[in-house]
Amino acid sequence: MDTTYSVKTSSLLDFDRKHLWHPYTSITNPLPVYPVESAEGVRIRLANGKELIDGMASWWAAIHGYNHPVLVDAIREQAARLPHIMFGGLTHGPAVNLARLLVECSPEPLEKVFLADSGSVAVEVAMKMAVQYQRARGFKEKNRFLSLRSGYHGDTFHAMSVCDPVTGMHGMYKNILPEYYFAEAPHCCFGGEWDPGDLASITRILQDRHSRICAVILEPVIQGAGGMRFYHPEYLRQVRSLCDQFEVLLIADEIATGFGRSGKLFGCNHAGISPDIMCLGKALTGGCMTLAAVLATAQVESVISSAAPGIFMHGPTFMGNPLACKTAEASIKLLFSSDWQTAVANIESQLIKGLFPLRPMKHVRDVRVLGATGVVELTSPVDMAAVQREFVARGVWVRPFGKLVYVMPPYIIDNNDLRTLTQAICQVVERIKTL
Ligand SMILES: *Cc1c(COP(=O)(O)O)cnc(C)c1O
Repeated sequence: MDTTYSVKTSSLLDFDRKHLWHPYTSITNPLPVYPVESAEGVRIRLANGKELIDGMASWWAAIHGYNHPVLVDAIREQAARLPHIMFGGLTHGPAVNLARLLVECSPEPLEKVFLADSGSVAVEVAMKMAVQYQRARGFKEKNRFLSLRSGYHGDTFHAMSVCDPVTGMHGMYKNILPEYYFAEAPHCCFGGEWDPGDLASITRILQDRHSRICAVILEPVIQGAGGMRFYHPEYLRQVRSLCDQFEVLLIADEIATGFGRSGKLFGCNHAGISPDIMCLGKALTGGCMTLAAVLATAQVESVISSAAPGIFMHGPTFMGNPLACKTAEASIKLLFSSDWQTAVANIESQLIKGLFPLRPMKHVRDVRVLGATGVVELTSPVDMAAVQREFVARGVWVRPFGKLVYVMPPYIIDNNDLRTLTQAICQVVERIKTL
């Protein structure tokens, strides 16, 4: 190792420790962070030269792996032409071409596109649409939301208000966070048997409160950061018809599930349903840039426009950023030109083969796999820093949280790397007993 290099790295780390917040951390009591030099394909290269096989796709986003030449070229070209321009009163090819792709590939009646700048903002936008829609229909009282326990929808205030009240730490924001309705999360697993009893909670709330509820918001099929649960698509189908019955909109938050992660292009496709509003983010740009999109039906849009103020009230500074839109267009085309269904199905079977042997262990509560997502749920929370260190020592990048050790690798990962990844998980989970 070159010494000037490591001096540079240690001063970088020093400054980071003193001044930078990382997600959900303290600067006073920092958890270890690993300086990254570069990343390519499924390899993350640390500043000390060590290479790690990526199991996280940078939180669902880097579906094509890192530094993909097609995406890098798209970014380079667009950066040289027009990296940004305001979207008020102006438009451009990257936004239009991306919107055309999104309308084409999303469930049928979704055709109006709002380009937002991050997932949480997309959720805020979807929630505002639902409120404006009901208000425009004359239902001013229908201004509250119904979501599911164990859900996750983002970190801004209204997005947080529909996250699981316990893991979303609603108690900490009491009196400033709006209080909404929560249905029990469905118990029937994906691939398991369907029990109509799963609908009791959400049906009861809709029966009692529909006059106050503008929309149901949920993550289709995979509940992500709120618990990594995979539920039965029949639940989704039934909730769709309950929403119609009670004149409540259905918002599908596909920010984590979108673009093939669950084995179908969107989680909704497992149930053959279409939401009234859909949020996309994360993998939208292949993990290169922050961008999100909210898709709505023509019905939602026209009702919003039919009543005062006659416009949809939102418009971020970086709305429709050309650099991000161009990257998203390139990423979606790259996905469609690949055999991603086979790649995801292969990851699914390798994860099953590699992780299911953990099932009998006493401190393992459950092991589940859906599409390119594998989850080992333990009986008690892990020491994240220690477990992360164990993974790095084995040459893989896995970041657990709470009781969950989970992976959602880039779709391009090959079977050798997958084997290394699942073997490392088995070894570390085995060691967790003693950590
Ligand atoms: C990550 C996530 C969000 C929030 O997106 P950000 O880009 O982090 O703001 C919202 N909903 C779901 C389902 C997510 O997984």
